[in-house]
Amino acid sequence: MKSGKIILFVLAAFALIFSFLFFLGAGGQTGGFNFIWIAIALAVVGFILIFFATQMGPSEEKANNVTVNIDLPGEVGMDTIKCKSCGGVLSEKDVKLVAGAPVVTCPYCGTTYQLTEEPKW
Ligand SMILES: [Zn+2]
Repeated sequence: MKSGKIILFVLAAFALIFSFLFFLGAGGQTGGFNFIWIAIALAVVGFILIFFATQMGPSEEKANNVTVNIDLPGEVGMDTIKCKSCGGVLSEKDVKLVAGAPVVTCPYCGTTYQLTEEPKW
């Protein structure tokens, strides 16, 4: 998706560059009438390509939003871990790695236990 947009911009840049070259050629040569039309056509093509490239932007943002929405439940689950003893909401800061195992220390009741139910940790 993103590479397609870049390709469109590159093609647009080439079209505009060649348009400029043909425009210069039209000035330098006699009978440059056709060159001007080619230059105008390339410029139009270039702007159409830019238009399509910018139109691709919103759909790309939508794709990003989807991935954010997918990631969100995991983060929410991380933030809403509750203490098994007192039900207090534990945060990421309360989790520490002890001997490679995630250990939670509840800031409310002081209970310390291993996190085994959450595979994300
Ligand atoms: Zn607790």
